[in-house]
Amino acid sequence: MNLILMGLPGAGKGTQAEKIVEKYDIPHISTGDMFRLAIKEGTALGKEAKSYMDKGELVPDEVTIGIVRERLSKPDTEKGFLLDGFPRTIAQAEALENLLGDMDESIDYVLHIDVPKDKLVERLTGRRICPTCGATYHVVFNPPKEEGKCDHDGAELIQREDDQPETVRTRLEVNVEQAQPLLDFYREKGYLASFEGDKDINDVFNDIDKKLGELSE
Ligand code: ADP
Ligand code: ADP
Repeated sequence: MNLILMGLPGAGKGTQAEKIVEKYDIPHISTGDMFRLAIKEGTALGKEAKSYMDKGELVPDEVTIGIVRERLSKPDTEKGFLLDGFPRTIAQAEALENLLGDMDESIDYVLHIDVPKDKLVERLTGRRICPTCGATYHVVFNPPKEEGKCDHDGAELIQREDDQPETVRTRLEVNVEQAQPLLDFYREKGYLASFEGDKDINDVFNDIDKKLGELSE
């Protein structure tokens, strides 16, 4: 099952990804998570990515395509994968088509989570993440059982640096501009499946799950 998750920042990609990979047992490949890990580890990749991420801008295509190429060549992608946050540009989408072609693979679905723009600022500024396992929460919409602590490992939850109101605005602008041509690209290929994302987390998942069930019919 080869899947791509698309949606503006805050649409719920990470939240749905956690549920999809648990049920379907495929690796969750998030370019944002890979960059955040590289920053935490202080690698050269992390240093380069940080300068863009801090401003809410996109990391250059060559760098991003390079890490995805490397990740997709690992053996655990044999039964499929869920890409989250990639591709974000047409150049990335074309590079992915070539990569998958070389692997004799193709995309099954591009799952697009659609949320009205005016809801996203509130979602992003209220987001909290676990620095150890990456689980995502929201102070109002999806709070942990114990305030400020991860349900899975009890770690102290943190706010992402780029979820400050100032950076959130730039990220939304950059991504809105990039999103439409990508959706058109995948609609034309017949991969696009859109979901209304402005409802309860479990209801969004049920809709996605129903669509994925069609793949095994
Ligand atoms: P993305 O990965 O697309 O940026 P996230 O999954 O991190 O988005 O979700 C952004 C924020 O919104 C998080 O705080 C998350 O808990 C919350 N969230 C996700 N889905 C929903 C939903 N359906 N309704 C309300 N809040 C949600
Ligand atoms: P969100 O969906 O909430 O914006 P991500 O974790 O996907 O968050 O991305 C965080 C940041 O990482 C982006 O603002 C960007 O700087 C960088 N990034 C992630 N994925 C890509 C990508 N495919 N191309 C370029 N930059 C990326």
